[in-house]
Amino acid sequence: MLYTDFKGEKISKLGFGTMRMPQVKAADGSDVEDIAHIERMVDIAIKGGVNYFDTAWPYHDGRSETIIGDALRKYPRSTWFLADKYPGHQQLEEYHPEEIFEEQLRKCGVDYFDFYLMHNVCENSIGVYLDPRWALLDYFLEQKKSGRIRHLGFSCHGEVDCLRRFLDSPWGKHMEFCQIQLNYVDWELQHAKEKVQLLGERGIPVWVMEPQRGGLLSKHSAELAFRWLMEIPGVATVLSGMSSEEQMRQNIDTFSSFRLLTYDERRSIEEYSDTVFSRVPCTACRYCTEGCPQHLDIPALINACNQLRIPGMAFTPVMFLESLKAEQMPDACIGCGNCTHICPQHIDIPSVMEELADRYSKSVKWSDICRERNKIAKEQKAK
Ligand code: SF4
Ligand code: SF4
Repeated sequence: MLYTDFKGEKISKLGFGTMRMPQVKAADGSDVEDIAHIERMVDIAIKGGVNYFDTAWPYHDGRSETIIGDALRKYPRSTWFLADKYPGHQQLEEYHPEEIFEEQLRKCGVDYFDFYLMHNVCENSIGVYLDPRWALLDYFLEQKKSGRIRHLGFSCHGEVDCLRRFLDSPWGKHMEFCQIQLNYVDWELQHAKEKVQLLGERGIPVWVMEPQRGGLLSKHSAELAFRWLMEIPGVATVLSGMSSEEQMRQNIDTFSSFRLLTYDERRSIEEYSDTVFSRVPCTACRYCTEGCPQHLDIPALINACNQLRIPGMAFTPVMFLESLKAEQMPDACIGCGNCTHICPQHIDIPSVMEELADRYSKSVKWSDICRERNKIAKEQKAK
């Protein structure tokens, strides 16, 4: 296993993300976690040198924390790192940081977290993290001071401006690491390249999430997608949401050595990236925006449309669209055509706006996901 030296800690380059653990059908037809299988995966992970385990409040409808805590308990506490996250992205009036944090420690069966993150800082949630009413920064700094959090960081699904805003806020100087969605498709599509650069300028190492873009890239080659990531400077660890023993073994094997991609391997990645979806060829030159009578952020909307064209994993563009006002949405386009005349790529922008509005109307909304997760959390608490 390859390791990263982080402030004197030896962190495995491969981490176990516990949001897609294996499930089986229960007698009543519902999906339940396959505990024996998960325990075997953890055993393989530990034996293979994986020492980083990542969970969160909403994963597996709130069951992930308990399951991974139980599976790790037989190993000495000093031999593994556990990361958990504060669910500010689904904040409710009745959420009290202290209550949630205590509950997370209890569920995981630990008295400290090695790594603790503010979950999903994005355009929709940044207001919660910056709102003095919740006093989240003060509370978590206190927990760090008392040793119940060893390292404080955040995950971010927001755009580059949102990431910069958070780093420029009072949180910035306390953030020791940042988890972003990074893979060879999102390098440009979700502007991961700029995010890595920005974090590098601030001296903040990168934790990678969605290295296979929800399994999409593994259809070509999981190994190549991981090796592509290993070449990115600043990447400290790669969290993979593994669902089987076989995946765990294969990924441990990939992370056992560092091998540069060959020319042919790099080309095959590029070719696959091009076939994953047909992309609107916007270069974000912004020639079109000045003449738009509706003042639409056309390149940002086209980018959202490109993301929605990729199968699965629609929540990031959906979250972005949900953060817009009605007059900024694609259906505010009046089809005047001012933009089309000026676009050097000859993009039929009104058609793209129409397509985006249609794709968005058919997408599951992030706010609905949060509402459902909170409902489940409340029901579990009431039991
Ligand atoms: S066609 Fe739509 S996007 Fe283009 S300039 Fe007119 S209103 Fe703006
Ligand atoms: S002019 Fe064309 S290429 Fe440039 S930002 Fe607008 S849509 Fe994109």
